[in-house]
Amino acid sequence: MTDCIFCKIGTGIIPAARVYEDKTVMAFLDINPAAKGHTLVIPKNHYEKLSQIPEGELSLLMHGVQQVAKQMEKTLKPEGMNILVNVSKAAGQEVPHIHVHVIPRKQGDKVDLGWDHEQYEAGEIEIFKQKLVTRM
Ligand code: 5GP
Ligand code: ZN
Repeated sequence: MTDCIFCKIGTGIIPAARVYEDKTVMAFLDINPAAKGHTLVIPKNHYEKLSQIPEGELSLLMHGVQQVAKQMEKTLKPEGMNILVNVSKAAGQEVPHIHVHVIPRKQGDKVDLGWDHEQYEAGEIEIFKQKLVTRM
């Protein structure tokens, strides 16, 4: 997509601090990190949502995520990591080109990904289970 910032980073038109690249995937440092070393992993092809990326490319994307995570473990030695995808505006997706965040964590850092918990009414968990169960 011509006006997509991550497509432009993927093709090198816009510079980024690139940390991993293969034929289909690229990873670079987030310019506004939640923590130093926060990395974004993208498919070079443009897809907006997780549900749109073909299965083969999704596997390759996750392979790239694992490579990034391994290198992060080796060199930054974080106490933990958050690996997450925001899907659509309501969930906080600002750039409409799918990307996986890899965020290094340590106890007491300033990263805040917490949420308040909801409670199911009686019988409601079964209704959600019926809606979400995947039939193959
Ligand atoms: P989202 O909110 O869409 O899940 O995450 C988008 C992320 O991309 C944000 O954390 C933001 O800091 C990062 N970002 C936005 N524009 C650029 C850019 O031009 N270069 C880099 N390296 N990161 C960007
Ligand atoms: Zn794009």
